[in-house]
Amino acid sequence: MWKKILNYIFLSKDKRYQSRLSTSTTSEAFFEELLLSPHHQWILSNKYLSRSFWTLVEKIDQNILQKLTANKKKLLFIQASGRLSCALSSIENSHIIIIFPDLYKILTSAAPDRGIAILLHEIAHLALDHSYKIIDPMQAQFEADKFAAMCGYAKHLKDVLEEFPDNPDCQDRIRSIQGYL
Ligand SMILES: [Zn+2]
Repeated sequence: MWKKILNYIFLSKDKRYQSRLSTSTTSEAFFEELLLSPHHQWILSNKYLSRSFWTLVEKIDQNILQKLTANKKKLLFIQASGRLSCALSSIENSHIIIIFPDLYKILTSAAPDRGIAILLHEIAHLALDHSYKIIDPMQAQFEADKFAAMCGYAKHLKDVLEEFPDNPDCQDRIRSIQGYL
């Protein structure tokens, strides 16, 4: 499916938004909108990357996709290449997820599942309005992990967290994820 959508986007680049896939599901329409954004040409530039993002979108419940883009809100994936820090002034009416080089590397690889698990976790924070709620930070992590687990990525998320054996928070999260495996 992602190939069909990619072909469609390449063919219709000059007449953006003029016509749409006639039989779009929410996932397809969401993916198409995502790739047509000038902010996301970097995703389109690599076939592994665009496939990873299609897999990501496909795993998210359609109601959540609709919620993320309610009131014309945009979901932006911004690639950050700096190593030390990066400052981002918030862009009005957008959700922003920063993609750091390590994550980029996983997403462009032939085995991107750990990267998709990380993105599902981040999307959960947005979908569950964690930044607008008074919530214990660890509780927010558990909820976001549960979301990724419910999308079928419990094992891959656990694999990511196991890369931090000295971090007690990660160990707590692993214990909680075990319940979804
Ligand atoms: Zn988190």
